[in-house]
Amino acid sequence: MESHNTKYSNPTDEDYNINQDQAIVTRRIQRLSLHLNPVSEHPVFSDSLQLLTCAGRAKINVNVENLSKYMRGKHRDIQERVYEYFNARPDLQTPLEISKDAHRELCMRQLMGLVREAGIRPFKYVVEDPAKYFAIIEAVGSVDMSLGIKMGVQYSLWGGSVLNLGTKKHKDKYFEGIDNMEYPGCFAMTELHHGSNVQGLQTVATFDPLRDEFIIDTPNDGAIKWWIGNAAVHGKFATVFAKLMLPTHDTKGVSDMGVHAFIVPIRDMKTHEALPGIEIHDCGHKVGLNGVDNGALKFRSVRIPRDNLLNRFGGVSRDGKYTSSLPSINKRFAATLGELVGGRVGLAYSSVGVLKIAVTIAVRYSLLRQQFGPPKQPEISILDYQSQQHKLMPMLASTYAFHFATSHLVEKYSEMKKSHDEELVGDVHTLSAGLKAYVTSYTAKSLSTCREACGGHGYAAVNRFGSLRNDHDIFQTFEGDNTVLLQQVAAYLLKQYKEKFQGGTLTVTWNYLRESMNTYLSQPNPVTSRWEGEDHLRNPNFQLDAFRYRTSRLLQSVAVRLQKHSKTLGGFGAWNRCLNHLLTLAESHIESVILAKFIEAVRSCPDASSRAALKLVCDLYALDRIWNDIGTYRNVDYLAPNKAKAIHKLSEYLSFQVKNIARELVDGFELPDHVTRAPIGTQVAKEAYSQYTQYAGF
Ligand SMILES: Cc1cc2nc3c(=O)[nH]c(=O)nc-3n(C[C@H](O)[C@H](O)[C@H](O)COP(=O)(O)OP(=O)(O)OC[C@H]3O[C@@H](n4cnc5c(N)ncnc54)[C@H](O)[C@@H]3O)c2cc1C
Repeated sequence: MESHNTKYSNPTDEDYNINQDQAIVTRRIQRLSLHLNPVSEHPVFSDSLQLLTCAGRAKINVNVENLSKYMRGKHRDIQERVYEYFNARPDLQTPLEISKDAHRELCMRQLMGLVREAGIRPFKYVVEDPAKYFAIIEAVGSVDMSLGIKMGVQYSLWGGSVLNLGTKKHKDKYFEGIDNMEYPGCFAMTELHHGSNVQGLQTVATFDPLRDEFIIDTPNDGAIKWWIGNAAVHGKFATVFAKLMLPTHDTKGVSDMGVHAFIVPIRDMKTHEALPGIEIHDCGHKVGLNGVDNGALKFRSVRIPRDNLLNRFGGVSRDGKYTSSLPSINKRFAATLGELVGGRVGLAYSSVGVLKIAVTIAVRYSLLRQQFGPPKQPEISILDYQSQQHKLMPMLASTYAFHFATSHLVEKYSEMKKSHDEELVGDVHTLSAGLKAYVTSYTAKSLSTCREACGGHGYAAVNRFGSLRNDHDIFQTFEGDNTVLLQQVAAYLLKQYKEKFQGGTLTVTWNYLRESMNTYLSQPNPVTSRWEGEDHLRNPNFQLDAFRYRTSRLLQSVAVRLQKHSKTLGGFGAWNRCLNHLLTLAESHIESVILAKFIEAVRSCPDASSRAALKLVCDLYALDRIWNDIGTYRNVDYLAPNKAKAIHKLSEYLSFQVKNIARELVDGFELPDHVTRAPIGTQVAKEAYSQYTQYAGF
């Protein structure tokens, strides 16, 4: 088999024709073998998709207007209002060189301007219309990612905790102030010693029945609330996560009811001084996102009224009795965290927004930039190099793939917020964890690739990759570290797997496991594993089968390994022994979901030319992913050597074809120059160099 490093020449149309002759022969053999060995039909992706197999070899004429119309979310209008507001206010645009303190103040002014001057009030959409809220967050993040995060802290985290964990009395009291920014607030969960392991946090809230108050305490320095956005400078309130302690009449004295959330005023409403018992410090200059003032909070016997307990999942009566509709600490904890998934949905969605900006700049510049060429002929554009296509075209395809997957996530999340359907809650929780982890990791890596693909000019701060990369980097860690989140996906898959064998129901996203586990677990079909014709490789059924086969196989094999190791190592040890396997499983599943959503999006596209373009991009996404994991497929003979080689060749050719419509594809994202803001990535290519020289002072 060809190794990954094998050099291929740029495929030309002639190469491709030769390949086609072979493909015709292969197709004939395939047809014959079909009679002998019919493949199973997929009920989900029926004949209509079979017809969508090949987009043809001529360059597709993409109608950008139709493509953008299809890509555009329902809430483009409000995004445009955000873009226009900041475009008209150069004084509110973040300069390239700015100190931490000035950036924090500017970021606050940007947010105030948006809410009070532009009249964009995101808070009501957090619950009423989450899709609109996420659209605002995405647009605001493209102005300055610090602003997107600051807004997220105010409305998703601080505001969202009040709405989702509190009850009517909290909404009545705080809604207006949060909405109009009179009550800037924080979300104080993480502590110095505990970030990912939230159940390990140590801050305590002890009920004092005599004064009908809770007393908030930081028992040791490890419990200092750390990294708290809005705390260092602007916050007046914080939702503090602490262990609820109730006095008892036994020798223990108090009983730990588990982690709960409390509203704690942290600064005086008039003087803005820290309130008595509260010590606040600054977490200091960060690698990125310096417009957000992250701080540390320490509490010494800080008293708050009993009503400040956000009591949706558990309350304390006047006489100190605890009531909850949920039977255990674990269930209450899961319900509490479950309500906070909105932040993850927002991050996944915004991360795609960042990726769109970076890909747009890198592609436009790669089309413009010319280096070398055949002897005595004009230089060629760097995007004509196969290596540049390899760096950027699968990335462009992934951006489209993620766009549809995260839009689907937002839809599901909005549906869940309305219906509170239990199955949907589990599904959205896991899908948001998986997509947040997968997409933010991918974007973080891609930002470096884009910078490098733009050479030296990619390194100039004005061309944005530096700030995008630094600001976005932490998306991989906050709202749940990606490695930890992927484990939640794996755990959920294993749960579903067990339920399958116990005859339980599977939620929508995981249905394919039930439908196909038996097929996938049988030995790969030796005939289909050799099929290498273009029609077959571009058939969505083949692509989905390959993705799902891998997931099912990983799931089944890790389940067996876990069972084996737990006998000697116990559950925790066995999990750790299989950890890399589990992470691969989670990623593989998320890729299956992404591909399924992309295929659906291709199928639903009403405009023929856009559909053809999307089909091409979708095929590239699918085949590139398969090729990236070719070792796994080869190890189990799912793909014979000739087929693996054909996949590689075809994905290179598809990269070449996507390159031919790359300009239209990035135009489809509808990012005006005042949003991308990189001279090398301007829409009117001939202006790029002159803008750049003007910027340098020529
Ligand atoms: C800029 C910024 C803003 C933030 N804003 C807020 C905020 O407003 N409010 C708030 O409450 N928090 C905030 N945080 C905290 C953030 O949520 C935590 O940093 C995050 O949850 C990760 O926790 P940690 O830093 O303790 O990492 P750790 O949990 O210590 O993780 C460190 C490493 O260990 C690995 N690891 C940990 N556990 C496991 C495991 N079980 N298996 C395998 N690997 C593991 C992780 O993958 C990671 O690579 C912010 C953080 C930053 C940097």
